[in-house]
Amino acid sequence: MEQDDWKERYKILSEEVDLLQAQLDEQPLVRLICQMAVALDGQSESLDRSLKTLCEQIKADKTGQPDTVSLVEKQLRGLDLEQQKQRNALVQGLQKWIYQLRLNLTTDLSNERLSEIEKTMVPFVGQTSYVSSLINDLVSLQAPLLTDDFIGERQHGILAELGHEDEELLQKIASELLSLMSGLHIPQGDMSLARELVSRIEAGISLITLPAIIQDLVGLMARLSSYSSEDFEDYLLNLTGQLAEVQAYVEESQQEGQLNEETALLSSGIHHDVQAIQQAMQESKDLHQLKSNVSSQLQSIVKSVDLFKQKEENREKRLHERYLQLQNRLEQMEAQTQQMKGHIEAERHKALTDSLTSLPNRAGYDQQIASEFERWKRYGQVFSIAVVDLDLFKRINDSYGHQAGDKVLRLVATILTRQCRSTDFVSRYGGEEFVILMPGTAAEQAVTAVEKIRHAVERSPFNFHGEPVNITLSAGVAEVQADDFVEEVFGRADKALYAAKSLGRNRIELG
Ligand code: GH3
Ligand code: MG
Ligand code: MG
Repeated sequence: MEQDDWKERYKILSEEVDLLQAQLDEQPLVRLICQMAVALDGQSESLDRSLKTLCEQIKADKTGQPDTVSLVEKQLRGLDLEQQKQRNALVQGLQKWIYQLRLNLTTDLSNERLSEIEKTMVPFVGQTSYVSSLINDLVSLQAPLLTDDFIGERQHGILAELGHEDEELLQKIASELLSLMSGLHIPQGDMSLARELVSRIEAGISLITLPAIIQDLVGLMARLSSYSSEDFEDYLLNLTGQLAEVQAYVEESQQEGQLNEETALLSSGIHHDVQAIQQAMQESKDLHQLKSNVSSQLQSIVKSVDLFKQKEENREKRLHERYLQLQNRLEQMEAQTQQMKGHIEAERHKALTDSLTSLPNRAGYDQQIASEFERWKRYGQVFSIAVVDLDLFKRINDSYGHQAGDKVLRLVATILTRQCRSTDFVSRYGGEEFVILMPGTAAEQAVTAVEKIRHAVERSPFNFHGEPVNITLSAGVAEVQADDFVEEVFGRADKALYAAKSLGRNRIELG
């Protein structure tokens, strides 16, 4: 097609030349100019136009208008400059080509040839024949570089010689890929694949390994996106399971009768919501709808639980207040009980104590003798009893008055207590009669002890209205015997007392 165009053009030009020649045979200068115009045709559009105008002017015998001639001159000079520029550009292009070939060609022969071409080419670049042979040379030198093996080898070489900036870029890509992977939710089944990918990236990526890594990562992400909806459903199933557990717990507690109205309400609320979630999972057409349905049910559950919690808190608060009230009441009752105990104790003490002398009274004595006798029976611990009676006391009352008699009774009580051991038990048995219980004391020591008491009373300086009064006592002492009853030992002592009275008073007799 291109060839046809050229042929056509050549034909037209030839005809034009023939025509011009015929017309200008007799004008050699005009003919020359027109031939030059044909020769220069195609160098520059504006020059073509100017030459055409010049030729027409010459043919019309106008010998070329001066402005057309000066324009053509100018354009011819410009044409020279343009050609020079084109030559320079051609030289530069060829030099770049040679430079690239030298970088890639490894044989000495090829490099020598390239240096030679480079050195000699500049003056000849304007010659079309030289340029075409030069291009042929360069193409044949380049031929071995275009084989597949060589391209592969070179690619490795180029990649191996990456610059510093490229290394940085690769590291940045690696860290971006790692952060991308760390944000992925990877199911258990793909975990080993993901780990392997991470360790490959961490080991360092290169332009050679990068495509494979990216391909595997894209594959993994495609798998994850296919899982995501299943994951969500798994999550919902799990959630529903947990809610069902809550439900079961609530119902179980309800069966045990532990729950109140609020828990029953919560129970039915959660039951309803769990059913709604299950229904939503079956009916929702897409993940988005499912999410929004489940989300609203979850909100409902959270609301129910919050309400329940609030009511429970109020209930607990009321219970706590009630508990505090009861505790307070209990403390009051405890205090009252304690008070009562004290009161009873005081009453008991009063019941067992003689108000005049503050000694234990007859009841006190009865209690003490019972336990002493018990000790004797159980452990064989011997004891003695002394029954003490003031001599002729009626006379004291009669002579000095009842109050003086009372005073004597109090003083005698003090002397008895002071003279006895702390383990002895001194009581006012009645009237002017005292009984002393002496644990761990046999009859003989008991007599000695009571003798000491008798002596002390006898020596005491009683005064009534400035008049000294002699007070004496008589006593009967008895030691507990085997096979005694509790009354028998007392009986023997009492009998001995009568004996002492009979024998003249102010004395002690052993029973
Ligand atoms: P005896 O040596 O034989 O024991 O002669 P007694 O006068 O002590 O004996 P009696 O039993 O005849 O008299 C006891 C007197 O003791 C009678 C009573 O006036 C007096 N008496 C008894 N209890 C009290 C009392 O609590 N206070 C006073 N002041 N006197 C009392
Ligand atoms: Mg008496
Ligand atoms: Mg008496």
